[in-house]
Formats: sequence, C-alpha cells, structure tokens
Amino acid sequence: MKKQLLAVVVSTAFLSTAASAQTAPYQVKARDIYAHIVGFRTAAGQKQTPAMVAYLVDVLKTGGVPAADITTADEGETSILIVRIPGKKPDRPILFSAHMDVVDARPEEWERSPFTLVEENGNFYGRGTLDNKAGVTALVSTILRLTSEKLRPVRDLVFTFVGDEETAMNTTRRIAAHPWVKNAEFAINTDAGGGLLDDKTGKPLIYLVQGAEKTYATFELTVTNPGGHSSRPRADNAIYQLAHALVKVEAHPFPVMANDLTRAYLGAVGQAQPGAVGEALRKFAADPTDAAAAETLAKAPEFVGTTRTTCVATMLQAGHAENALPQTAKATVNCRIFPDIAVEAVRQELATAIADPEVKITALNSPEASPVSAMRPDVMAAITKAVRANYPGVPVVPYLESGGTDGKVYRIAGIPTFASSGLFTKPSEMFAHGLNERLPVVAFYQGLDHIYRLAVDLGQARR
Ligand SMILES: [Zn+2]
Repeated sequence: MKKQLLAVVVSTAFLSTAASAQTAPYQVKARDIYAHIVGFRTAAGQKQTPAMVAYLVDVLKTGGVPAADITTADEGETSILIVRIPGKKPDRPILFSAHMDVVDARPEEWERSPFTLVEENGNFYGRGTLDNKAGVTALVSTILRLTSEKLRPVRDLVFTFVGDEETAMNTTRRIAAHPWVKNAEFAINTDAGGGLLDDKTGKPLIYLVQGAEKTYATFELTVTNPGGHSSRPRADNAIYQLAHALVKVEAHPFPVMANDLTRAYLGAVGQAQPGAVGEALRKFAADPTDAAAAETLAKAPEFVGTTRTTCVATMLQAGHAENALPQTAKATVNCRIFPDIAVEAVRQELATAIADPEVKITALNSPEASPVSAMRPDVMAAITKAVRANYPGVPVVPYLESGGTDGKVYRIAGIPTFASSGLFTKPSEMFAHGLNERLPVVAFYQGLDHIYRLAVDLGQARR
C-alpha cells in the first residue's frame, strides 16, 4: 500500500528510490554500511570511533568522493568526519548532521550481541541501530547516491559526523567552527524528529520536527548547620530547613510561556486528543493567555513541559548518623528551562521562591541555553514532501524537545537546526540508550530516502 503511493507521489528525481523490495543497490550498500558501523563499539572510553571514521572514509573514497572533500580530525579518544559536496554557486552551505558515538552497552545484559547487527522479526537490533547509526548510514548513503548519480547541488552540502554527542559534545563545537560549516544557513539533524505510529494499529499519527530544545539544568540546594547530639535538638535543623525550601519549590509555578513552535505543536496534537485535555490544548494554542487551559495542561505530565519551565526535586541526601543532628542536607532539583530563558534567571527565581538565604543554590555542570530555530517554510515544505511520500496526509509539526541533542550546539553557534530523522516508530518501541535497542527494518530504509530527498530538494541537486 505505502509503496504504491510512494511511486505515485514522488517526482521523477526520486524514481530510483521507489523500488519496493529492499534490493536496490543503494539499499544493499546501506545495509552493509549499517552492519559494519554497528560493529564498532563507539562508546566513550572504548576508542573505536577513529576506526569507524577510517572505515567510512574508505567507503566514501571507494564510492568516488574526492579526498579533497573529506576532512577528519582526531579528538583525543574520538574523531570527527566532515564531508562536503561542492555546490555550483558560492552560497551558504546546508548542513546534515549525525553522531557516531553511542551509549555503551554490556553484552552480557543483552539478548543478542549489542555490537552485531541482527535482523529479526522485522527489526534491526543492536546498539545505535536507532541512536544514531541509522542517521550516520543515511548521510553516507546520500553522499554515495548523489556522487554516483552525478547530482550537483546549487550550494555546498556539508555532512558532519560527531564523535561525542552522548557525552561532552566537544566535537560538535569543533565542527560548528570548521570553515566548511560555520557559515551554514541551517542544519538538518538526524538525531531527533520523526514519526509516531499508533501503538496498537501501527497507523501513522504525526510527524515531529524538532526546532528547539529546553535547557537541561540541575541545581543543588544545600543547607548546613552546626549539628549536635540528637538528644538535645536545636531550634534550627538542616533537614527541616531544606524540607521547607523544597515545599516552596513544589508550590512555585513557573510562568506560562509560548512561542510559534509550541503553539503549532500543541494545536496539532490537540486535534487528535479527546476530552478536557484536548480542549485545553486547542484553546491554549489559540490563546496562550487562557489561564484555565494552561492550568489543565499543567496537570498533564506529557504537556506541562511544552507550556513552561519545570523544576522538580529528584534526589535527597542528608545527615550522617541516626543519633546526630544533621550538619548537611542536600537536594537535587532538575529543571527543564524554556528556550531563551537564562539558567541564572531560573536560579534566581528558585531563590526568590524559597526566600531563605541560608539555602545555597548552585547550578551543576554549567548548562547552556539555546535559542529557538524559527521554522523555515522551505525546510518544512521539503520535510513534509519527504514524509508524505511514504505517509500521505500525516500532519508535520514542529516541537520543543525536552531531552537533548547536539542540535543545541549548532543553534548556540548561530546555525538554525531542525531535527528530522525520517524514522517512524511506535512510542512503546523506543529503546534508545536502553537494552535491546532496535529499529524497524522498514523505518531504516525510509530513513535513507528521507535524507536523500531532503538533500536533493533543499540543495536543488541536478545533473
Ligand atoms: Zn542521539
């Protein structure tokens, strides 16, 4: 069904992708690359990313990519790879990004070897099959196809392969400053964005394009006290004092916020959502000052994060003996900060809400806020066309990410970034970072075509 539609919808530029069996030469090649790169244990500390880069460079050169258009750099235990397809005119490049590293996996805990690609029950299993080696493969496959088909883009297309997205993101910072990259007009990130399928029926529900990320910030609240013997309680007590502070954090509502992106998202989701929450979504999207709608959404865990900054206590640590007054009490408060709001402003807002100068509030891990990437009609049109080639009529909607990708590094560097993997999955089958990570076989091949179509369309690649 889908494949018939595919053949009808796509333009002649894409006819080669309409082959229904997964036996087109580029599909066979991509599967081979995917199997090879899942085999590299590219987790932090394993030092296998440089070998993966060497393999990819070999694949690219064999596929006809000139050495002058390939850049690699060793970055300590990891590596960077940048590939460019020169455009016909000097213009700002378009970026496509994926990350090569993975969260580590312990083979003894997995049902199958995590570093061997296994195709079973309609899925590809292995660490990185979803996050983000399908994206790496889609980029390499696209470069090889454009090269072999002798398609030249109007402007440079630059493909970046990051070495430490899951940890420090230093290689993304390095890449963002590279001469081939730094003037990019915008970036397509394969590491987020994608389609949701209904868990029961498998019907496509919605396709989400990530256009912004909340800032992940963790604060530590600390109260200290002289302590003493528990048989002689003092009037002040670090645990009580911290508990009072936490009650105030719990009661503090951060202000309701909205932007074009969150309104578009909540409105689209509201169309399919029944009941009071659905009504609140539609009302809030139409008018973010609707206090009653905002209040309803504040009680819905899946939507509250798209309407405001949230902070929540996640860890506690206090006291040193059951018969001693506590000398120290600490709480960890994790915040997901609305885009464009400074981390320090949230720290101050917490301090004001707690209203106790003896409670020290410090930010851990120097978090960085990133801006919203304003949705571009050309990018949204290209993504919509690529998505609907396989899923006609599915809504394509921007969203605000609560998790985190290195898209924020590009955004901070001034490169608007849109995450669009092209992968459709069921929410119940999301095993990124976890055990038995997998990706539906169909999604893998659709992801290849998704990135290829975006490169051809956005780059206006022609013979
Ligand atoms: Zn990822």
